[in-house]
Amino acid sequence: MELVDLACKKCGGQLKPEDRDYDHQVLRCRHCHALFALKRKNDKPTPPQAERPKVEMPRKFSVAQSRDRIEIQWDWLSAGT
Ligand SMILES: [Zn+2]
Repeated sequence: MELVDLACKKCGGQLKPEDRDYDHQVLRCRHCHALFALKRKNDKPTPPQAERPKVEMPRKFSVAQSRDRIEIQWDWLSAGT
């Protein structure tokens, strides 16, 4: 866990965890009574990517992937053999 020194942006006074209002996600400075909204980092977690099984390419196709393009070749000369 990372230790963060919480200081009021308005008066520079030390903010304490008990100054936090969990119901309203706000924190009130006990020195100057400034009110701060708390940002929740994990409000919208991105859904994990669905894993897709790797599908083998048909034998007649060959795929060459480079940095900026994908080259798909179809060996039409040997098609049907
Ligand atoms: Zn303050």
